Parts: sequence; structure tokens; C-alpha cells
Amino acid sequence: MKALVLEEKGKLNLRDFPVLTEVGHHDVRIGIHTVGVCGSDVHYYTHGKIGPFVVEEPMILGHEASGYILEAGSAVTHLQPGDRVCMEPGIPDPNSRASKLGIYNVDPAVRFWATPPIQGCLIPEVVHPAAYSFKLPENVSFAEGAIIEPFAIGLQSAVRAGIKPGDIAAVSGSGTIGIMVALAALAGGCAKVIVADMAQPKLDIIARYDGIEVVNIADTTLSSAVAKATNNWGADVVFECSGAAPAIMDLPQIVCPGGTIVLVGMPVDPVPVDIVGLQAREARIETVFRYANIYDRAINLIASSKVDLKPLISATFAFEDSIAAFERAAEQRPTDVKIQIQVAE
Ligand code: ZN
Repeated sequence: MKALVLEEKGKLNLRDFPVLTEVGHHDVRIGIHTVGVCGSDVHYYTHGKIGPFVVEEPMILGHEASGYILEAGSAVTHLQPGDRVCMEPGIPDPNSRASKLGIYNVDPAVRFWATPPIQGCLIPEVVHPAAYSFKLPENVSFAEGAIIEPFAIGLQSAVRAGIKPGDIAAVSGSGTIGIMVALAALAGGCAKVIVADMAQPKLDIIARYDGIEVVNIADTTLSSAVAKATNNWGADVVFECSGAAPAIMDLPQIVCPGGTIVLVGMPVDPVPVDIVGLQAREARIETVFRYANIYDRAINLIASSKVDLKPLISATFAFEDSIAAFERAAEQRPTDVKIQIQVAE
């Protein structure tokens, strides 16, 4: 079966790759339809590693997928052949302490697609646990199913924030995750979300949504925009999605007294933090790593039309053109949010 294989840093091949495993009682065999290209896939391609995860052997890329059931294991009751699904890419050990606690996203034993040495899903068929495969309602397309993965991070962030109806939120960074977080914050009850970045084309994309206000930090700081919007009180919730040290230093100037900061962005190196500034406001700090028990909610919101992610799909490539899709994603065009690859017709 042909797969998109990262042979080593900088070298992609669309070639035969033997991977299919047996369909266990609780598994499903899925025909992959659409796969989104994630920043992490591109980073493995361009750098060969992310933190401690190093590509040491050929690895299939891709973890943001939708598809259709080809075969269901004997114990699977909620899915049957023909059902359209999207999949959580991380499979925890169901017997682990983290799984028992419901925080399976931080299970040290989690096996996550396209995170070395685990293979990804840019291949026509995969076998996956049915428990991590979610049926798509009729009005949710394969393309939307494949963009649920990054949106799930946004929703996990909104849940972590403990948003109250009418909150004013600020988001630093309008990359793909910043955009997902902003939309999730609105869906979660925020009255207004102020999004800051210096890439104007990205701000223009998110600014098209109702309830979003944008700030180009080349002209104004996020803290002054928030001060203006909140009569100098500060934002109830600040989502840090840039991972940039100056933005992290500024957090105490943006959050309101008693407010919440959610750290979503991942700085490459350790960064300094203004602890006293945070203490003086008794800010609550939350962190986010992927998501747990979020996919159902993400699908519900998209099916209800409360969240429309379709405008964020910037281009779709055929499977044969997967390498071109990665080259386009690696260009990091400021007008691109999500590049997808359509594996099946
Ligand atoms: Zn992703």
C-alpha cells in the first residue's frame, strides 16, 4: 500500500509501505479519505525532530484524518462498514493510571500517529481502536472531519479556561491553533475574543468571524487593546498561542485580576515568566496538551453550525501530490491556514 513516508529529514517519498495490522475485536479498519497537514508534520519534514522525538527510521506522516469504516471488529457496536468517521490520533494504554483518571492525553504510554516511532495515517487504510473513531453526522464533510483534530485543541483550551458566559478573552498568536482557540472560546460562551498577531493576512482570516476583534502587534500591543476594550480591567481569559517569549512576559498586563491564563503555544526553549505580575492579580494558570474526551463535543459544535471551519481549509491536494502539499505547507504562506490531502475519491 502506498504511503507518504518521511525517509529522513527533508526527504519524502510516496511509496509502498507495509503496515496493516490485524483488526482486533475492538478495532475498526478505516479507509482514509482526507488528512490535514499539521505544523508538526511539516516540522518533522524540515527539522527531522520535535523536542525529544527524533525521526530515526522512515515514518508515515499525518495525524488529522477522516475516513470510512471498511471492517469492524466483533466487539464493536457503535460503528459499521460504510460509516463515515474521524479519528483521535492518540491511543493511550487503557489500563494506565492516566487513562483511569480520564486524562489519557497525558498518559506517558500514549501512541500518537506520526510521532516517532509511531506511524501516521497518510496511507489508504489504517486499523484503529473503535473507541477513538467517531461517527460523522451527515452534514459534516470529510474535510471538516479531518480538521476536527486541531479544533479539538482549541476546545480543550476553552474547557481548561472554565469560560463563563460573557467573558472577554484575548488570544496571542493567530496561527492555526490560535484561530481554533479563538473560535472555540466564542463557542464556549465568550462575548468577544481579541486576537493578536503581526501577520495581517492571518488576522484578516479570523476577523471575518463575528465576535472577533483583531490587533496587529506591529501597531498596538495586545495589552493596550485589551485595556481599551475592558475599561482597563483586563481579559477574563488569556490564551497564549504564540509560544513567543515577549508575549509570555506580557501576560500579567493582559489578564484581569482573578483571571485565567491558558498556555497553549509551545516555546522551543524555556522562557522567563513575570511571576510577581501574575501573583499581583492572583491569575490562575492552566496548560494544555492535546485533548481528552473532546471529539464528541467538537463534532456536535460543527454539526450544529455554531462553528464553521470550512473557510479555514486553504487548499486540497490529491494523494499523488502529497509531496507538493508538504512543500506548500512548508512555505508557510500567511494566507494559508490548513492544507489538506484527499487520499480517496
Ligand atoms: Zn495536528
